[in-house]
Amino acid sequence: MPEQDAPAAVVLVVEDEENIARLVRLYLEEAGFRVLAAGDGLDGLALYERERPELVILDLMLPGMDGWEVCRRIRATAHTPILMLTARQTEEDRISGLDLGADDYVIKPFSPRELVSRVRAILRRAVPPEAPAGPAAVRVLAFPGLLVNTDARRVEADGRRIELTAKEFDLLAAFAGTPDHVFTREELLNTVWGYNYLGDSRTVDVHVATLRKKVERDPANPRFIKTVWRVGYRFDPTGTAGAGAEDAREAGA
Ligand code: CA
Repeated sequence: MPEQDAPAAVVLVVEDEENIARLVRLYLEEAGFRVLAAGDGLDGLALYERERPELVILDLMLPGMDGWEVCRRIRATAHTPILMLTARQTEEDRISGLDLGADDYVIKPFSPRELVSRVRAILRRAVPPEAPAGPAAVRVLAFPGLLVNTDARRVEADGRRIELTAKEFDLLAAFAGTPDHVFTREELLNTVWGYNYLGDSRTVDVHVATLRKKVERDPANPRFIKTVWRVGYRFDPTGTAGAGAEDAREAGA
């Protein structure tokens, strides 16, 4: 159903396979989005610079400039959500897409309805809910060596500004907003992804790994995002590295 009360969000589709591009456009337009399309990487990048869409759907294998490079160049200047389309299925490819800052990925062949619901979910997370005006709206979660500004969606670790993808930020905000709470992977999927992510909880682990790389001094010995053995994760508000009692592997001994 098209949204009547807001201007249509603009989605840029960069895809060289015409049948797929046409199908994606059809479904997105039916869902009320305005769609721009490009058939190769360079055109896609140029269209992106000119039109500044709200979201980019980016095929990986493209003529001219591939999807990785387009993603890298967009990320060099902007946080616009990027959803990758990929025919590749190895974990390595997924992770390298996420490392470059893609917010989500869909493996071909995919259901256009599923794609539209992913686009909606990403945009819901990317657009902050109607915040009341004024300084009272600014919310900063402060921990030793870590500041999370949930209003401006800005993060500083040890006084240094950290660039996070939309998904990484949402994950960190969920952790930091509920310190000491032990999250299961399912709970994080529901909280952060907000929809049934094909039931794949490894997605959480992949994002926690990329988040730790950016936020933690030593990702192998995290201060904040602690692994809770056999359960999930817990945010330690004291920012103290080293295994806490709950991390000890006595349960597995
Ligand atoms: Ca392609």
